[in-house]
This record gives sequence, structure tokens and C-alpha cells, in this order.
Amino acid sequence: MKTVGFIGLGTMGGPMARNVLRKGYAVRGFDLSSAALEKLKEAGGTIAGSPKEAAQGADVLITMLPDGPDVERAILGEDGAVRGLKSGTVVIDMSTIDPAYTRRIGKVLAERGVAMVDSPVGKTADHAVAGTLTLIVGGDRKVVEKVRPVLDCMGTDFFYCGGLGMGEAMKLANNFLANTILSATAEALVMGVRAGLSVETMMSVMKTTMAWNNQLGVSLPKKALADDFSLGFMVRLAEKDHRLAVQMAKALGVETPVGSAAFDVLKQASGNGLADLDVSAVLRLREDQAGVKVRLAR
Ligand code: NAD
Repeated sequence: MKTVGFIGLGTMGGPMARNVLRKGYAVRGFDLSSAALEKLKEAGGTIAGSPKEAAQGADVLITMLPDGPDVERAILGEDGAVRGLKSGTVVIDMSTIDPAYTRRIGKVLAERGVAMVDSPVGKTADHAVAGTLTLIVGGDRKVVEKVRPVLDCMGTDFFYCGGLGMGEAMKLANNFLANTILSATAEALVMGVRAGLSVETMMSVMKTTMAWNNQLGVSLPKKALADDFSLGFMVRLAEKDHRLAVQMAKALGVETPVGSAAFDVLKQASGNGLADLDVSAVLRLREDQAGVKVRLAR
């Protein structure tokens, strides 16, 4: 049986690690939260006392952490995974982070004979539980194929995007667009309701035109339009992803006036106490300002 080290056992990492366990791998996990560690233990995993310990003896080491500095600390910091990794191990970072971090960490690991793959994920916490995430993968093709059986424990939709960091670049471009569409959709819906239209009328018309999108067709009816702002995908994480995407565009010399305005909306939502709600709560900002509610009739 192969051993997988797993660092970061939160909303996403917890169920992902349990799915790897279920498929027959031995999992040694580390997290700063003792509650998260206990859950892994209950599922049959082993608890490590540090990232270094999680890495010791691992054939594959997975990180699923909030942001780039967290991944860098867990892998390269004091008591970091790099001190426990054996040559030939593959590190898979599945967090959504700046690809510049991915490549910097990958370079240090390569100097020690450890290959790195980035595989941020698409979809939601429910899909993490079901093992049906979208895997958005970057790295050397041969190394990716080697770790594919472990990745397949966690996801069903697999996309190879290119060399190391390209999974992250793809994921950031994706979330940048999804968040921007959401903000524009919220503005259009509030405008329409303020003008006296019903959401149902607007949706019927928009379904036949270029205005139609999956925020309007899939996400919003299940969440904000049904008056449900529970998670989902947190405003706080959407803001983080959008910040990284705008940063990446800037570093590439690409101007993003529309997407940057959507970033301001996410920052405003966080600042207005909506940070821990589902990202569809950006609709609430426009509603509060315009004094209307946009809800589907039940
Ligand atoms: P989370 O905050 O629920 O979990 C992060 C976990 O990492 C926590 O348990 C925390 O204790 C732990 N942690 C933080 N720093 C650590 C360290 N130095 N060492 C060990 N453990 C540490 O976050 P999440 O929702 O699981 O998201 C993880 C990543 O997945 C993020 O990059 C996020 O953007 C991305 N993502 C999230 C979703 C979602 O729907 N939640 C969907 C797709 C992608």
C-alpha cells in the first residue's frame, strides 16, 4: 500500500484526504486544527505532529491550504515537509495560489530530487465529499501520470493544462470570470426588479439571449434567489482568488478594468460583514443599496 502525506484538512482537504484513505492508501495528515486531525483519525488515518512528520515515508505529499504563503511555510518552513521528504516523492499542491509561488516552491523541491505538480480543484465542498471534483493540473506530464491514481481518488473531471503552475493559471482565470459574471448578473437583476420586472420574467427573456450564464441558470437559483446564503463557496475565498487573478494579469501586462471592478465588489462584500457567506451574497450588496429584494417566487 502506498503512503500519502496530507497537509491541510479543512473544508476541502478533510473530505479529500478521507477519499484517498477510502481508496486504500495509508494517509498521514497534518493540520493546525486538532478537530480536523481527530476527524482524519476517526476515518482510519494517522496524525502527524508537523509537516515534516507528514512527509516522512510518503510516496506522495498533498497540500490543501488557504494561500501561497501557507503552502510555502508548510513545505519549506521550519519543520517543513521538505525536511522529511525522500527523493522520488511527488508533492501535489491542490490549494488555489499564485502560480509564482508554485514555481518558486517547485524549484527548491527539484533541487532535492522531489517533483511537484499543481492541481487546484474546481466545484464545491459537496464535490470534495463525493470525490467528484474538477482537477486542473500542471506539471511534467510523466510525473502527472505517475500520481494520476491518487488524483483520481478525489476528482472525476481531469484537465492537463501544461507545465508547473499552469493549473493555477487556469484556475485563476476561471474564477476571475465566474466572479465577474456574478457581479454583473447581480447588478442586472436588481436593476430589473427596481424597474418593476419579476425575476421570472427576466430569466425567461435572458435564457434566449447572450445574457444567459451559469450563475443565472445554475448557482443563483439554488442560493441567493432562494434566499439561501449558506456555503457554498465563501466570499472570503472568492476575494482571495480574484486578488490573485488580478495580480497575475498585472504581472503579465494585461489590463482588467472590468474584472478589477468586480474585485472591488468582493472587497466591499467582505467589508460589509458578508465574508463568511456564499459568494452569491454579492447580490445583497446591490439589494441593500437599491432597497429591493430579488427572490424567485416559491
Ligand atoms: P479551509 O480554511 O477550510 O481549510 C484550510 C485548512 O488548512 C484549515 O484546516 C487550517 O487549519 C489548515 N492550515 C492553515 N495553515 C496551515 C499550516 N501552515 N499547516 C497545516 N495546516 C494549516 O479552506 P478550504 O475551503 O479547505 O480551502 C483550501 C483551498 O482550496 C483554498 O486555496 C481554496 O481557495 C481552495 N478551494 C476551496 C473551495 C471551497 O469551496 N471551499 C473550492 C475550490 C478550491
